[in-house]
Amino acid sequence: MTFHELRLSEPIVRAVSQEGYTNPTAIQAKAIPAAIKGSDLLGCAQTGTGKTAAFALPVLHRLAENTRKHSIGHPARPRALVLCPTRELATQIFESFVAYGRYLKLRHCVIFGGVSQSRQERHLANAPDVIVATPGRLLDLINQGFIRLDAVETLVLDEADRMLDMGFINDLRKIVKMTPDTRQTMLFSATMPASIRTLADRILREPEFIQVDPVASTAKAIQQSVHRVEKGDKPHLLTEMLSAPEVERTLVFTRTKHGADKLVKGLRRSGIHADAIHGNKSQNARTRALDAFRSGRTAVLVATDVAARGIDVDGITHVFNFDIPMDPETYVHRIGRTARAGASGVAVSFCSIEEAPYLRAIERLIGTTLAVDGQSDRPVRKPAGVAVAAAPRANDAPKPATAPSPARSGQKRRRVHRSEVGLPSHPTKSKPGKPRTRPARSAN
Ligand code: AMP
Repeated sequence: MTFHELRLSEPIVRAVSQEGYTNPTAIQAKAIPAAIKGSDLLGCAQTGTGKTAAFALPVLHRLAENTRKHSIGHPARPRALVLCPTRELATQIFESFVAYGRYLKLRHCVIFGGVSQSRQERHLANAPDVIVATPGRLLDLINQGFIRLDAVETLVLDEADRMLDMGFINDLRKIVKMTPDTRQTMLFSATMPASIRTLADRILREPEFIQVDPVASTAKAIQQSVHRVEKGDKPHLLTEMLSAPEVERTLVFTRTKHGADKLVKGLRRSGIHADAIHGNKSQNARTRALDAFRSGRTAVLVATDVAARGIDVDGITHVFNFDIPMDPETYVHRIGRTARAGASGVAVSFCSIEEAPYLRAIERLIGTTLAVDGQSDRPVRKPAGVAVAAAPRANDAPKPATAPSPARSGQKRRRVHRSEVGLPSHPTKSKPGKPRTRPARSAN
């Protein structure tokens, strides 16, 4: 299957091949023909599947097919509106529209909060055909008379589950109401909880359901594992694992902003070029950090979930869950940052005994028991003997007698030795292409 066979117009096919895409991804092959026809779409797909082009290409195709005269000035009356949860994602979607539409005479504009609005007002005066926006700032600008949605022909909701998680439901309802009933609507979500189905029922008309991966399944190309480690030993273990030669472009997730900053400081002290990206950083600092990561100047980016949502960086070799996410679906989002567009990737999770219940919830969601300590290079389906360690229960905690807490014993913190949790010692050699694990030793 080629892009040409999907009946996309020649300027679009040319732009796409310039992006280096030779064949459509699965979601593109399914979504593009339906969207070109004008059908509504309900897409269940994780990031990394090529879903941005799956909606951007047909939107561009349809807009270019019947061009409309622009009227310069306010209010802007876009013909396509794309809503997404974060500024980073908005920027990336906008950049995709610019890239895929480079041979078309269409204009695009991106709108998000946290920055001065005057530049956005100027761009809006240029009569954009497509507006990519986060819901809050979009509504502000609508209320101030800079935008009207009465000419919207296609409405796209991207990462809808995240928008709901972030409390945007009322904003979304208001925005959808302002668009014509005759519009085409596409809704994409990585997961399909009941709240998304309700929203979909309300705003989509006889949608084609497109699913490229089973709900919440994790990409097969991702080699996942979990390391059981005491909380205080995590920085040391991370530093150790980051030094493996095959660990190149790495995203590390922490639960809190403070945790991200603290970790970056520690990594830098160990000579690792790391940067943090989270909600307390200014937009400029976030953009700078992301650019440095994308260009390879920074090898390790430490992020919180909200800040990481829009990160679309190719070639992430490793994702580390420094903290296990409390929400199991967040795990799927996090590890989806690696193994994008057919590449392979490694996802390593550090699990302290307190986090064992969250790990169990993840394993239930993805239907797989994660390999422990990189011992196996594939997810294992609950094999006898390993299951206990792979899905630890609260009472699996190493007994104080064998794993004394540093506070109580006065000793230095140390990693729990594999034998203490009933596992054989490490394989003597690690496989190429995977992070090396070394025998436990005292942290210092
Ligand atoms: P997305 O799921 O939209 O975030 O896309 C993930 C990555 O896949 C992006 O970096 C795109 O540039 C890339 N991509 C999208 N479509 C294709 C394609 N047909 N062939 C190769 N790479 C693609």
